Amino acid sequence: MSSESQTKTYPTPFYSQDLDQGRCSNPECPGGHAIVAHAKCHPEAAFTVAYNKETRCLELYCFECGRTVMVVKVAEAVIQ
Ligand SMILES: [Zn+2]
Ligand SMILES: [Zn+2]
Repeated sequence: MSSESQTKTYPTPFYSQDLDQGRCSNPECPGGHAIVAHAKCHPEAAFTVAYNKETRCLELYCFECGRTVMVVKVAEAVIQ
């Protein structure tokens, strides 16, 4: 990890509610399928995915340029 990332504010993580409200970028799409994230900087690029144990977030980085694409909060399992 670079020291530069420590000075930046941590991105607001996505929660399941945020992803539930996510829309497909195709306006004619009827929806009902999985939400697919892509990097705005490099839409065709793959991601590097890292789990941050301190924030309990899954961090997705653009494989091309390393920009943060999104940070997703990982939920704890509910023991019933
Ligand atoms: Zn769609
Ligand atoms: Zn990129």
